[in-house]
This record gives sequence, C-alpha cells and structure tokens, in this order.
Amino acid sequence: MFGSDFSMPSHWQPSSKAPNGLDVVVVDIDGVLADASKRQHYLENRPKDWQLFFAASAEDEVIEEVKRLLELLNESVTVVLLTGRPTSIADLTIEWLNRNAIRWNLLISRPTGDYTLATKFKEYETSRLLELGARIHLCIDDDPNNIEMYRKLGLPSLYVHSGYY
Ligand SMILES: [Mg+2]
Repeated sequence: MFGSDFSMPSHWQPSSKAPNGLDVVVVDIDGVLADASKRQHYLENRPKDWQLFFAASAEDEVIEEVKRLLELLNESVTVVLLTGRPTSIADLTIEWLNRNAIRWNLLISRPTGDYTLATKFKEYETSRLLELGARIHLCIDDDPNNIEMYRKLGLPSLYVHSGYY
C-alpha cells in the first residue's frame, strides 16, 4: 500500500486481506461500527473504569448500516479503521471485526500509554496517512470534534450520531 520500504508502525495492524491501494476511507469504531451504548455506564463511575469499558467491547452489537456502507464501497477502496481504543485491545478488536465479518484493511489504534486527546491522536495519524500518499475520500466519525478536525484538514467527513463519544 505505502511502498515496499515502508515499515508499519506497531500500532498499525493490517488485516489478513492486506491493504490494497491508496484510495482510503477512514472510519471510527466506537459509536460508528460498534454500538458501545451498553457499556457507557462503566464511564459513569469515578474514577472511570476504562478496563471494564474496553473489555466489554467484545460484546458490542454491530451498527449494521455502517457495516453495509463499507461493503458497498468499490473494492479498490482501502478501509482504515482509526480508533481511540488502545493497542492493548487490538487483538480483541480484530477478533470482533472478523467475527462480525466487517470489511477492513488496516486498524490504527492508540499506542498504549498515549493519553493525547483523541482528536489530536486522530489528526496526527490522518496527517501521516496523507504524507504517505493516501487519497482520503471520506472520514466517518461520531465525535463532532473529530468531524471538525477532518474538515479543517480539507477532508470530506460524515457524522454518525451516537449520543456518546
Ligand atoms: Mg467514536
């Protein structure tokens, strides 16, 4: 995808169907592909229980409309999942994606110990994709801050309403 001399950072995980071309859509997971509403209560505790919150993601239901939207994209399009989830649950996330037959090519999750604001993290990773030559056609997210960031980068973005983010 990014040329043979490109070494994939450790928080970038390709699917078994390796990323194909440089035409890309960037898609969030929580609140966009995964219905995280049933585990929000873990974040109402003080301190917030992030560990239980993330562990419970294995049981999330799929947001079928977005899953279907990805299936309808031209097969040359590379689906990059860009999530604020930590890399420590990347295996769980990949298992969930594959169990639910979700179309994806590359998962970018937050390096463990990175506590940058989610929007900053996503801005950094998106800029990196652009530097690598990706043609980002659409970004999909449920956080209005991320939508604003994508628009500032000049990228078309689609807001999905979750009511949490
Ligand atoms: Mg989200």
